[in-house]
This record gives sequence, C-alpha cells and structure tokens, in this order.
Amino acid sequence: MLIGQDITIMGGGIGGFAAACALAQRGARVTVLEQAAELGEVGAGVQISPNGVRVLDALGLGEAARRRSTRSRGVWLRDGLTGREVIDLDLALLRPDETWLLFHRADLLDVLVQGARDLGVTIECGVRIDRVELTETRPILHIEGVGLRGVDFLVGADGLHSALRPQLNGKREPFFTGQVAWRALVPATGREEAEAAVYMGPGRHIVTYPLRQGRVVNLVAVEERADWAAEGWFHKDDPANLVKAFEGFCKDARDVLGRVKEVHVWGLHRHPVAIEWHRGATVLLGDAAHPTLPFMAQGAVMALEDAWVLADSLAVQGMQDGPALYQARRRTRVSRVIEAANKNARNYHYGNPVAKLLGHGVLRIANRVAPQKVLERFDWIYQHDVTSD
Ligand SMILES: Cc1cc2nc3c(=O)[nH]c(=O)nc-3n(C[C@H](O)[C@H](O)[C@H](O)COP(=O)(O)OP(=O)(O)OC[C@H]3O[C@@H](n4cnc5c(N)ncnc54)[C@H](O)[C@@H]3O)c2cc1C
Repeated sequence: MLIGQDITIMGGGIGGFAAACALAQRGARVTVLEQAAELGEVGAGVQISPNGVRVLDALGLGEAARRRSTRSRGVWLRDGLTGREVIDLDLALLRPDETWLLFHRADLLDVLVQGARDLGVTIECGVRIDRVELTETRPILHIEGVGLRGVDFLVGADGLHSALRPQLNGKREPFFTGQVAWRALVPATGREEAEAAVYMGPGRHIVTYPLRQGRVVNLVAVEERADWAAEGWFHKDDPANLVKAFEGFCKDARDVLGRVKEVHVWGLHRHPVAIEWHRGATVLLGDAAHPTLPFMAQGAVMALEDAWVLADSLAVQGMQDGPALYQARRRTRVSRVIEAANKNARNYHYGNPVAKLLGHGVLRIANRVAPQKVLERFDWIYQHDVTSD
C-alpha cells in the first residue's frame, strides 16, 4: 500500500489521471498539476484495446467507460481505390470476451478525472512547470509565474514535449518519418457500423470510426510525403488539401472526406524510447517516456498500462526501489509495441501493384481460412493483462 505517501503528477492527460487513480487506489495522497486552465482533451477519437480496458476495469472505471464509449465490432480493411473488402476482422464474433472501446478523447478523460475525484485526488489547473530541479533530497518544481515548490515524489506524465524527460535522458531530436496525418471529426450519416474502417491505398490510408452513439465519425488520414510538417495536435489545414491527397479513392472514402469542415495536420515523428525512466524521486510515464506512432492505436493504452504497473511496483517494492521495478516491467514491452507500430505504417501503403496484389491476396485468404490466426499475431499486445502480472 501507499498510505501516507505524497505523490505529485505533472500533466493531467490520460496517463496522468490513470496514474492518479491507480496510486490513490493504493492509499497515496495524489495531486495532479495541469498546465491548461481547464481539463480537456482534443476533439478526436481514441481506441482502447482489451489490454487497456483491463486497466480501466481494475481501476473500477469499467462501467463508466463502457457507458461513455462505443463497443467496436471489429476492423474492416478495404482497398481504398476500389472499395473492395480485403479483410473483415469480426472481433465480436472471434473474441466475444474481449472489449474494444471507441471513445471521444474528452469522454475518456472525463471518466478518469471523475474516478480521480472520487478517490480524493487534488487537481490544480493552470499550473505550468517550466523546469524540474533534481536535488539530492526531493524534486523542486519551477512553476511559471509562481516560483518553486518542493515535492516528495514526482510522476512526469507531461506528454510528448516533457520537461522532465530531457533531464533524465538528455535532449534527443526526433526524426520526421516522411508521413503526415490529418485528424477531423465529421457528422455521421447514421449508417456507420461500430467498427474501425481502414481504406488502404498507395502511400496513404484513412481510418474512420463512429463516436458518441454514432453521432460523429472520427477520421485519421495518413500520407507519405517528402515535405516536412510540424509535430503537434493543433496545426489547422485546409480540408481541400486532405481531399486532394485522397483523389482517386473510392466513393465511400470520398463521401467522408467531403463532410470534413475543419481539419488539423501534423508531421509524424519517431522518438526513441527513453533509456532512463526514473531518477531519485521522479519517474516518467506515457508519452513522456515513449511517444509512439499511431499505427497500432497503443499510445494511450500503454499510458494506462504504465499507470497500473507504476502504482503496483511502488506498492510492492517501496518508493525507493519501486521505480526501477516499474522500468524493468515496462520498457521491453513498450519498446516492442512501438516497433510494431513503426512497422505497421507501411503495411497499409502498397505502392507497387504486384506487392499490393500479393499482400491483399494473402490477407483475404487468411481471413477466409483462419481468421483466428490473423488475430493471434497480435495476442501478445491485446491479450496482455498487466493487472494480473
Ligand atoms: C492521431 C493520433 C491517434 C491516436 N490514436 C490512439 C488510439 O486510438 N489509441 C491509443 O491508445 N493511443 C492513440 N494515440 C496516442 C495517444 O494519444 C497518446 O499516446 C496519449 O494521449 C498519451 O497520453 P499522456 O497522458 O502520456 O500524454 P498527453 O495526452 O500528451 O498528456 C500530457 C498532459 O500534460 C500536460 N502538460 C504538458 N507539459 C506540462 C507542463 N510543463 N506542466 C504541466 N502540465 C503539462 C498537457 O497539457 C497534457 O494535459 C493517438 C495519437 C495520435 C497522434
């Protein structure tokens, strides 16, 4: 148990609040410091696979999470140009005991924040930490416009541009992968299935899935291109650029693109997984330790898993030795998942027609003959249960 421990979390995102719940559940007094004036997530979707749902269940938030999300039936891969089906992975049929949830990100955050409030977590918004000073005894936070605050134990859940990570690992520039992504929410037609639909084309693909009882559709589109684009969630683009990038795609795909009114674009960058996840009374968690490309939909899920394992390691091994146990339990798995996401990017993008014929052909046959086998390839990710390790 962590009764009597004071733990401060820098960053009130999905990872930060999941950690707040897991730590408070074990008796810690937890404070979350978030730079934004109000808690909120970007207007986009997030898929939470069964390994993430297990953490939500263990946090006692499973029921609220299911209420605020849509259960996904499966994944429908289509040839983006012809619209022809390549593979339909009916997860509800093949894996009826596993739950995949499709959330509006704000709804998932809301579930976690409510969970944290119910456990007595203190939440302070509008608190931006410019720098963390690592002293012999305790971390000192340099808070913008306020001054210094010493804390007993700090969890850096401050995302992609973490202020804590470079102090533990030095500064490393990410590299541009030669891919850009657009995100948008579009009005639904009401005919969408509760599933992730993937339209695959040469050098580009689109993923769509419905959110909020089917009222809106989440869209992420990825294109390989040479010119650089900035990393980050908030760079607006003209919807016409998105439509142009997917010229030649089938009618269903163009119909969704035609409904886009507002779109954001960003460059996909690869970051190395941090070597050091902890020093003294500080640890890194979620994107702060290991940003990932979105091609396995595992970034937020890995943050949920981190949160559980961190709290468990501290409770089992104590505040001094727990951080090393946490890193040892997490780093290999997270690195493997990130490597799988890196590889998956190009799987959707056959440029060569022969490669496409072969690739899509193999998938079609596998789907007909042994769909379970297709799923089993990823069991090590989705079937994993950190809550029973
Ligand atoms: C297009 C796209 C689609 C994705 N889809 C999925 C998906 O379907 N499934 C999935 O699992 N993952 C997905 N991800 C990945 C996922 O979004 C991230 O991995 C996840 O949000 C990381 O959570 P986090 O809490 O670690 O960081 P963040 O969500 O970045 O939260 C960090 C928080 O810290 C705060 N903060 C930052 N700096 C400071 C500071 N100095 N002081 C105080 N507060 C600070 C920020 O304001 C923010 O609230 C996707 C990512 C992208 C780009």
